[in-house]
Amino acid sequence: MLLAEIISVGTELLFGEIVDSNAAFLARELAGRGVTLHRKTVLGDNLGRVSEGLRLALSRADIVIMGGGLGPTDDDLTREAIAAVLNETPQEDPNLIAWLEGLYSSRGRVMPQVNRKQAWLIPSAEALPNPVGTAPGWFVRTQVEGRDRFIVALPGPPREMHRMWREQVLPRLPLPDSALHAVTLHTQGIGESNVAELLGELTRAANPSVATYARKTGVDVRVAASAPTLEDAQALAAPVLTTVRERLARWLWGEDGDTLAGAVTGALAGRTLGVIEAGSGGALSSLLADEPGFLDAAVTVDHARLITLGLTPVTLRDHGVVSEPAALELAAGAREHLGADVGLAVVTAAKGEGAGRTFVALSDGERAEVRTLDWPGDAAQIRERAAVAALALALRVLRSPAVGA
Ligand code: ATP
Repeated sequence: MLLAEIISVGTELLFGEIVDSNAAFLARELAGRGVTLHRKTVLGDNLGRVSEGLRLALSRADIVIMGGGLGPTDDDLTREAIAAVLNETPQEDPNLIAWLEGLYSSRGRVMPQVNRKQAWLIPSAEALPNPVGTAPGWFVRTQVEGRDRFIVALPGPPREMHRMWREQVLPRLPLPDSALHAVTLHTQGIGESNVAELLGELTRAANPSVATYARKTGVDVRVAASAPTLEDAQALAAPVLTTVRERLARWLWGEDGDTLAGAVTGALAGRTLGVIEAGSGGALSSLLADEPGFLDAAVTVDHARLITLGLTPVTLRDHGVVSEPAALELAAGAREHLGADVGLAVVTAAKGEGAGRTFVALSDGERAEVRTLDWPGDAAQIRERAAVAALALALRVLRSPAVGA
């Protein structure tokens, strides 16, 4: 098993001024290539702590990937830390100096003296060319207790880091022959802890691994297996996938790149859908925008206009727009006034008094169903959840057989 650790260096990362997206990128890359990641560390620009962090990581992991701190200034000290830990002395590399000077002169500038340290190398390090910046990376080969260890130092800017990782680092790493097969199953209408309960022992296995994630569209379950070849990984995952699909069958609506709106289109089975949105600002319509069955939409909070779309003045007076009867009338109105086979309505208070109160309703001519939600949040969250709740209702109703069918 090949073990890795990531050390992200930068005071701005430590204090949360920027988010460590590089470590997230690297973690995904390593997982996909059969390398086991045990730790991610964030350290400020401090030579003592970076050296200590590296020393510790090297005592535990085969590969230590360091990000950031390769710039020209005094607080960029990743190179110094690596040199200190390996007890080696950096020297200017003439080829790197020539490359850096060429880079500056091609832009009509003279290389500032501070940049000379970007041309440093230590005997164990090989320079990794940076095609999009001035900071070359380092690829360091060393040994700890007779075992090969690798230190990779990459610049912080994600554009530079991603490219150098793929083009320079991956071909140099002794990666295991390993393939990953992962499938993500999407559910709706069941909470994460209930999903975990139904999956039981499966979530505690390491390979295939089964993990649950609460997403805006419901709970996702990711089944992943790794093996020497893709065929082996698929074969390993297959029985677990079958079990998960069986246990969650009632709630499953799609896999991998499927969308909830796409699942609703499938459930419409050729029928057309009309949508009326009051308060959700078009959030539902934009989720449906690419769907072939999506016929028409009205997005308005204007009372007079809502009345032309099926809201009765009595309901408006007695219950208001954000109410169950209004949602039901507008769902029927979406069929009648927009000429669709199925009508879906959302009425929500995204802001102000009663914010979060939402009703979604569906009418297909035989059935009318409504669902109430009341979740606090900011206006954008409320609109988005309202739209997802409308799709979830549509999926549930359209998939269940009509009475008498
Ligand atoms: P350069 O010499 O190109 O500046 P560097 O290796 O010195 O590279 P840093 O100075 O540490 O890199 O970071 C430069 C910028 O890169 C940061 O201001 C930030 O925008 C981005 N960055 C650094 N580390 C990360 C990270 N872990 N995740 C996302 N972005 C990062």
